[in-house]
Amino acid sequence: MPATPSPTVAPAPESVAPRAGTQIRLNGVTKDYGLAVPAVADVSLTIEPGEFMTLLGPSGSGKTTTLNLIAGFETLTAGTISFNGADVSALPPHKRNLGMLFQNYALFPHMTVAQNVAYPLRERRVSRAKTARKVAEVLELVQLTGRDDNYPAQLSGGQQQRVALARAIVFGPTALLLDEPLGALDRNLRSSLQLEIQRIHREVGSTFVFVTHDQEEAMNLSDRIALFNDGRIEQVGTPESLYEAPETLFTARFLGDSNVFQLSGSADDTVVWEDNVWALDSRTVSSRASAGGQVALVVRPEDVHIVTDGGAVPAGANSVAATIRDIGYMGSYRTAALSLGRGGTVGRARFDAMQTDLSVGQPIVAWWRIEKQRVVAV
Ligand code: ADP
Ligand code: MG
Repeated sequence: MPATPSPTVAPAPESVAPRAGTQIRLNGVTKDYGLAVPAVADVSLTIEPGEFMTLLGPSGSGKTTTLNLIAGFETLTAGTISFNGADVSALPPHKRNLGMLFQNYALFPHMTVAQNVAYPLRERRVSRAKTARKVAEVLELVQLTGRDDNYPAQLSGGQQQRVALARAIVFGPTALLLDEPLGALDRNLRSSLQLEIQRIHREVGSTFVFVTHDQEEAMNLSDRIALFNDGRIEQVGTPESLYEAPETLFTARFLGDSNVFQLSGSADDTVVWEDNVWALDSRTVSSRASAGGQVALVVRPEDVHIVTDGGAVPAGANSVAATIRDIGYMGSYRTAALSLGRGGTVGRARFDAMQTDLSVGQPIVAWWRIEKQRVVAV
């Protein structure tokens, strides 16, 4: 039995993982399982040091495969991955030194909280004294001080996930990869753990790559979002830029709600939808839409206003005749489901909860300011 270390000199203070974040670069990354389409196809993405990057997209769009390629759990069919400029494509997972967090907590049930968190340090042959210090530090970071001797079964789901998070960062990983870590938790717990993850990202300062299919979670947490569609990146940018300046109909629909008008024609300063000719500000045309091909005009529900008979549409605004199909009360506002134009295209507007002069079946005019509309590629 080794004696309990009794240092005569206090060890130098060291914090959990305040190393400068790592840049992760994916270049032409492809994973082909031999199915009809590759799981990940020609993905190029640079994740900056210390950045909170979210891989967002529907189920089956290639998010987990991309994360597993970064981790080294899967081998590349084509392309390269580098950390801080060094090619890691051929490195096995343990040499990449990444922290991982999954939806299922994957704690060792027969080990205490402290033993679970100490596990990566034991594997790395870190001394007992340093291990004890790091475990205490990281349990404080996830606000579980005092729970050292509990077993996972004695903790709530949220606490177990905090233990898993502590275990994923205790060894100062190159970066933290998180695959739908909050997917199993109920709504309230989810949002409190989102705040925790944000705080921990700020305090630790390392690069986080976070996978989710939940657009609100992605908008809430991320510095930038890479939106996946069928194994490819549809668009990368800040939450604001994806919401306010979508390039494609897929992006507009995936992030938030939109009224969608499939256009039959467009000129320099007008677009045509059914028998409406609408004014166009060329600055609201996405670059992928201006490249040619089919285009649609999208307007967010919060930008659509309603006038009833007698009311006037402001000069310069675009408008369309509509019927109210349904009204929903959302607390601070109401939404109207609309039937737009001749064909009855489904749409939505948002209006003040205090406005009560609207009723189902009522014909109205829906209008919006031209700078609020956007022309996207279909
Ligand atoms: P996501 O995490 O976005 O839901 P995945 O990366 O898990 O998507 O999957 C992307 C695609 O690759 C899916 O069509 C999936 O069925 C396929 N896929 C994932 N892993 C494998 C595998 N081991 N073998 C064959 N196909 C796979
Ligand atoms: Mg997945």
